[in-house]
Amino acid sequence: MTKPTRHLLGISGGKDSAALAIYLRHKHPELQLEYYFCDTGKELPETYTLISNLENYLGQKVTRLEAAEESPEDSFDHFVKVYGGYLPSSSARWCTKKLKLEPFEKFVGNDPVVSYVGIRGDEDREGYISRKPNIQSIFPFRRNIWSEDVVQKVLQNDAMARLRGLYEELSEPVQLARVVALAETPLSRGFTQAQKLNALLDADTRLFNKVVFGMLRGTAYPLAKASAFSLLDNEDNLIRSDIFRLLRESGVGVPAYYEKITFEVDGQKGEYARSRSGCFFCFFQQKIEWVWLYEQHPELFERALAYERDGYTWMEESLTDLIKPARLRQIKLDAIGKQRKAKGPASPYLLDILDDEEEVGCASCFI
Ligand code: SF4
Repeated sequence: MTKPTRHLLGISGGKDSAALAIYLRHKHPELQLEYYFCDTGKELPETYTLISNLENYLGQKVTRLEAAEESPEDSFDHFVKVYGGYLPSSSARWCTKKLKLEPFEKFVGNDPVVSYVGIRGDEDREGYISRKPNIQSIFPFRRNIWSEDVVQKVLQNDAMARLRGLYEELSEPVQLARVVALAETPLSRGFTQAQKLNALLDADTRLFNKVVFGMLRGTAYPLAKASAFSLLDNEDNLIRSDIFRLLRESGVGVPAYYEKITFEVDGQKGEYARSRSGCFFCFFQQKIEWVWLYEQHPELFERALAYERDGYTWMEESLTDLIKPARLRQIKLDAIGKQRKAKGPASPYLLDILDDEEEVGCASCFI
């Protein structure tokens, strides 16, 4: 007997995945979603508050996945011991693998799974894509809901005859000539996969989704056996401001660490906050975020500091050096400078530097 497809949504503790849970509950209540959270044991307290607010809103539990369930210590401490005190870094990211990806893949097992990912329409990144064939990622906030591997399969030149056939079958007569002409234009240097994708989405997003759904038939993708999929009707494209609106209007709220706090140095004012969720000591955070941690969560900073021993540090500069008064002052002045520059007339975006840095980091931790 074939196993039923599970629909999973990972809650990272950040704004986007929480907003996706709210959005899907409201827009697609028919989806039987399971929510999970990979708990490293080292999240900010604001993250646990967000998850509890979300559980109240959804009326459903968010399953906690722990990488070292049997250990008397929390997952991070268990593995840092296993690695002999070796701290993770952007080039040796054992934490993501051990604390996030492996527990998720164990939770999924061999079940067919559709995994909903909160990458926004204004982001240019793909997020974590499982290499396991039983897991298929869907991106409801984007106009293109399909993952890169699916798009590649559908738009490759070898699949053109099938693509054209499905357009002929599913298109309304009025648009048939146009979409078929697009479908049968081969990919080339002058007509890239991204251009073809956008042209087909511009022509008719729903029709494109139906065609892709048709092309999945006979493949190993979990959606290949589904008789229907309500997200085929999706034409939304949600951006950062929509995410904050969803969180505020639902009552779940924006995680408190995003709220900017004013600081002053040498008579000049700047703002700091944390730009993403994840472990309080995450090595992806910027220097000014470490200063935020030091001043706003001194007890957590002390705990981060305690891991720095035997020559291991979270970044090139040790935390002991980072909090020397002259260094603190310099980091704040640098942050003020960057913020002014980002808000200045030369910047194409009215986002401050923390917002700009948001995209840097680990897709599986921060979505
Ligand atoms: S949040 Fe940072 S430190 Fe924590 S698991 Fe993810 S990448 Fe590692």
